[in-house]
Amino acid sequence: MADVRHSACPLDCPDLCHLEVHVEGGKVVRVEGGDRTPITDGFICGKVRNIAEHMYGEARVRTPLIRTGAKGAGEFREASWDEALDLVAARLGEIRARDGGEAILPYHYDGSNGWLTGGALAGRFFRRLGASRLLRTFCAMPSKTAVQGLYGAVPGVALEDYTHAKLIVLWGVNPSATGIHLVPIIQRAIDAGARLIVVDPRRTPLARRAHLHLAPRPGTDVVVALAAIRALFANGQADLAFLGEHATGVVELRRRAEPWTFTRAAQVSGVPATELAAFVEEYAAASPAVIRCGWGLERNRNGGSAVAAVLALPAVAGKFGVRGGGYTMSNGDARWGVSGDAAIGEREPGTREINMVHLGQALTELRDPPVNALFVYNCNPVATAPAQALVERGLAREDLFTVVHEQVMTDTARWADVVLPATVFLEHREIRRGYGAMRLYDSAAVATPEGLARSNNELFGALLDRMGLARGGEARTDEELASAIFAGDRGATIRAQLARDGVATPIDGPSPMLFVDLPPGTPDRKVNLVPAALDAAAPEGLYAFRADPGTEAFPLALISPAIPSMVSSTFGQLRKGRVPLELSPDDAAARGIAHGDEVRVWNERGEVLVTAAISKDLRPGVALLPKGLWRHHTANGATSNALCPDTVADLGGGACYNDARVQVARI
Ligand code: SF4
Repeated sequence: MADVRHSACPLDCPDLCHLEVHVEGGKVVRVEGGDRTPITDGFICGKVRNIAEHMYGEARVRTPLIRTGAKGAGEFREASWDEALDLVAARLGEIRARDGGEAILPYHYDGSNGWLTGGALAGRFFRRLGASRLLRTFCAMPSKTAVQGLYGAVPGVALEDYTHAKLIVLWGVNPSATGIHLVPIIQRAIDAGARLIVVDPRRTPLARRAHLHLAPRPGTDVVVALAAIRALFANGQADLAFLGEHATGVVELRRRAEPWTFTRAAQVSGVPATELAAFVEEYAAASPAVIRCGWGLERNRNGGSAVAAVLALPAVAGKFGVRGGGYTMSNGDARWGVSGDAAIGEREPGTREINMVHLGQALTELRDPPVNALFVYNCNPVATAPAQALVERGLAREDLFTVVHEQVMTDTARWADVVLPATVFLEHREIRRGYGAMRLYDSAAVATPEGLARSNNELFGALLDRMGLARGGEARTDEELASAIFAGDRGATIRAQLARDGVATPIDGPSPMLFVDLPPGTPDRKVNLVPAALDAAAPEGLYAFRADPGTEAFPLALISPAIPSMVSSTFGQLRKGRVPLELSPDDAAARGIAHGDEVRVWNERGEVLVTAAISKDLRPGVALLPKGLWRHHTANGATSNALCPDTVADLGGGACYNDARVQVARI
C-alpha cells in the first residue's frame, strides 16, 4: 500500500503544480496532480506523472564517478563520496592557489531547483572561493530587464484570472508545451465568449483555435508591437487619461513608434497590414484584455525591445484596473517579503563576471586567468549553451578540471573528470515560489535518494568543510537554511500559512491587480515607457529594430522552441530516437526536400544531420529544431545550438537562439 505524500513541482515551468506522490518502500510509484494550487486542478503533465522513469532509469547516476577514458568518452569508474570529494577539493585548491579563485567557474541554472537547493550553500562556497561569477542569461533576462524597467518588480495578471478576460493575446508563448494548465483556462474563457489572438511564427495548438493568428518573422515582434502602438495613438484609441496620470515617456514612445506604419511593419515582419489592423481593432475594443507575453520573442537581437514594446501596449490602451486585464510576464516578481538569497550567508565578491552564453569563449579564449576548473550543477550546457562546437572544444581541454553534479548521465556529464550523483527534487527538501502560479511551497523529501545521490546543499556543505571555508555557527542544515529564508514577521506568516494550508500566497494576495492592489514598482510608481537605463543599455536605443542577420547563403531562420516531452534539456534521456527538422512546405519544395528525407542543416558555425518533416504550421522562411536536444536526437550528435550564435540580445545579455540563420539541403 502506497503512502500519499505532498510535494510541489519546481521544474522550470510557470505552473508550480501541487503534487500527490505515491511512495512505496521509499520509491515513487505514481504522481498525480493535487488541488492546493487552483490552476493545478488535479492534473499534471506527462513529464512529472512519469518521473519514476527518470528517477529509476538506466541513465541515473547512482554513485560518484571518476574519469578513466579520454575526455568526452564517458568512461568512468565508481568511487566513494570520500574519494571523489577529496579529489575535487584537492584539484580546486591547487587551481585556486596557482591561478586564483577566478580560474574556477561555477556553471549552473535552476532547472529543477528552488530557493533551498538552487544556490544556498553552492553560492556560499563559490563566493568564498572567490570564483568567477556567472551571469545566468539563457532565459528571461531580456524580458526581466524590460518589465522591471517599465513597471518595476511587480506581478502580472494571475493565470486563474484569465477566465475574466474578453480577449486573450498569447505572444511568443506556447502553453500547450510550457504551461499546460493555461490551456483549459483559456478554453473556459473562449467558451464564455472571449476572443483569442496568437502571435507566433508557427501555428501552435492554441493558434489553431485562435480567432486571429499573426505569424511574424523571428526577431520582428518589436515592429509588430510598435505598429500597434502607433495605430492606437493615431486612431484615438490610446487611453490618454490613464497615460497622463500613470505613465512617463508617452511622447517619446509615440515618437519612436511613428515610423512603423502598418505598411512598413508588414514589409519587415511579414504579417499582412490587414492582420495588423485587425489586431489593433480587437485589442482596442476588448476589456478585460490580457497579453500573456512569453519568452520566445526575447531570444534574438531585438528581444528586450520587443518585450518592452509588447508590455507597453496595455498601458497605451488603458487595459489595467479590471480583473483579467493587463499583462502577464513573470509572476516571480510577486512580493513575498522573504528571499532565497538569505540562505547564502556570504556577500557577493567583486570577481569577474562571465555570461553563460559565452561558455565556449570562456573555456577557449579567456586569459588572466584562464578558466581551469568548471563546476557544473543544475545544468547541461552541451545541450543548452550556444556555440556548441566551441563549448565542446573547451570541455576537451586536457588541462581543464570539470566536475558535474547531476541526476542522470547527460551529454555534459560525459565530459567530466568527476561526476557526482544528485538528488531529484522528490528526494530532497525544497522551497519554491512560482513564476506563473503565485504560490510558495516548502516541500519535504518524499522519496529515499537513489543510490548515493546527495543534494546540492549536502555536496557544497561537504566541500565547504573540506576546503576550510565553513564558519562556526552559520546555517547549514535544511532547517537552518529554511529559517534564514523565513526570517522575521513575514517569514512567520508564511510558515503559518504553510502549516495551515500547505501552500502560501504573496503579500498582495493570490491574484493581485496592478493599479488596484499595488502600484508599479518603479521609483516614481508610474509606468516608464522609455526608461533611461534601458535606453542607454540597448546598443541602438530602446525600441530600435536591428535587421535580420540572414544572408543569401543562410536565409532560413532556425527557431528552437520547447517541446511537451522535455523541460529545456531535462528528460532528454527519456526521449528516444531522432528528432526531425521541421520545414514549411514552400521551403521544402524550393529545395526538393520531401517528408522523411535525410537533410543537412548548416551555417558557418557547424552542421546538423537530421531527417526533414514538412509542417504546414510553419511560416515560410522558418525552420524548427526543438531546444534542449541531446546528441542521440540527431544523426551527427550536433543540435540546434551548434548553429546558434553566441551574440547577446539588446537587453540583459540574453541568448539569441532564434538568430541562427541556416541553409538546408537533402543529403
Ligand atoms: S512541469 Fe509544469 S505542468 Fe508539469 S508537473 Fe511541473 S509544474 Fe506541473
